[in-house]
Amino acid sequence: MPSDKPQWAELYREVVTSGLCTGCAGCVVVCPHDVLRYDDAAGGGTWRPWKVDEDGGPEDCTHGIRGCTMCTRACPRFRTWETEADVHLFGRPRDPGEVAGVSDQIVLARAADPEVRSAGQDGGLVSAILIWAIEHDVVDAALVSSLEGDGTSWRPVPSVARNRSEVLAGGGSRYTYSVNTLAYPKAVEAGAERIALVGMGCQASLPAMVSARKAGKIARRLALSIGLLCSKTFDDAIFADLFDTKYGLRREEISKIDIKGVFKIWMRDGEYHEVPLKEGRAFTRQGCLACPDFAAEHADISAGGIGSLDGWTLTLVRTSRGSEVFQGLVGDGMVETRPVSDDPGVLDLLQKLSRASRRRWPEGAEPAARQAKLPG
Ligand SMILES: Cc1cc2nc3c(=O)[nH]c(=O)nc-3n(C[C@H](O)[C@H](O)[C@H](O)COP(=O)(O)OP(=O)(O)OC[C@H]3O[C@@H](n4cnc5c(N)ncnc54)[C@H](O)[C@@H]3O)c2cc1C
Ligand code: SF4
Ligand code: SF4
Repeated sequence: MPSDKPQWAELYREVVTSGLCTGCAGCVVVCPHDVLRYDDAAGGGTWRPWKVDEDGGPEDCTHGIRGCTMCTRACPRFRTWETEADVHLFGRPRDPGEVAGVSDQIVLARAADPEVRSAGQDGGLVSAILIWAIEHDVVDAALVSSLEGDGTSWRPVPSVARNRSEVLAGGGSRYTYSVNTLAYPKAVEAGAERIALVGMGCQASLPAMVSARKAGKIARRLALSIGLLCSKTFDDAIFADLFDTKYGLRREEISKIDIKGVFKIWMRDGEYHEVPLKEGRAFTRQGCLACPDFAAEHADISAGGIGSLDGWTLTLVRTSRGSEVFQGLVGDGMVETRPVSDDPGVLDLLQKLSRASRRRWPEGAEPAARQAKLPG
């Protein structure tokens, strides 16, 4: 019989050790008793949370026994998470055909400012949104990913961006995991009260989750969720053991990586290389193996690079908050848009990749997240 006050003991059993945990660190940042830990060592780390030995041992929590449920409230993989967040955001569970989640508008978009575009991975849309939201006092700060040191190690670091230059410093994609959520305490310490979270679906569901389950101040503070479409992330070892050992591509000489059917790798000396995507499979991060969310389904705005038009971001505007922000950017001339029909096939690809991710959700787990019905 499931407990009506589920706490760490249930989270540990049903998510952390069952294969569902993504390592998003949502539970860690909401814990009011500071008993959960996460090792975010650049290029290594444990990728999933654990509890300190005191206060109930690693598998239980004395605060939980006394009624604290914060970690399970935050977790975007706990029990009926997907339906709860859908109903909270959209007022209804999704239709089985909505495999990429509910959206209000799908367009192609790019930053109007060439400097923002060139800092971005695709159209620089995400950076443009963050700059606009900070400069228009919609948020005080954004939780993003930046790169360690001068960037040559390619190791991502969760960071707080408070202005245009900090946003642009984090632009572009790293395909190893960046636990942007972990920058939350730093943003709060710096006085931020309205915070945007950028992250792949596993992290982008956190604001909806804490709001749906009324998880205290964090629900009010996470004021905007910007999601990145995502099939998987890779372990840091991919740099040394695949790109370098097999192809001689040293990480410090790589200037940009993109994934479009293959790893597309640009070097600082101007050379360009391709590495077959299937060779990366062995380096898939464990936290991604059961993830059903390709399209960052609970973000206010989701952004991706699939499709045939380089330099444009596939943009799914999902919520009313997302719509207000996007209309603000369009109205101020900060983004350019074009209809998604300019890229025939991109919506089919979105459906196909979303269905593929949903098939990874284990059969024994809450069934909603496996639904992957073909429309019609
Ligand atoms: C790990 C990963 C996997 C992805 N997989 C796909 C995919 O399969 N299909 C697809 O269409 N799109 C995928 N994307 C999204 C795509 O790469 C672009 O991020 C997206 O199109 C937005 O581009 P942009 O130019 O508008 O964003 P930008 O303006 O470049 O902004 C990107 C934002 O993402 C943040 N960021 C960068 N790397 C990470 C990271 N590792 N973790 C968390 N935040 C990060 C940056 O800090 C920045 O704020 C993936 C992105 C990541 C990070
Ligand atoms: S999925 Fe996220 S919130 Fe849930 S247990 Fe794992 S790290 Fe914690
Ligand atoms: S596949 Fe992407 S969205 Fe899913 S757990 Fe991995 S990083 Fe998160």
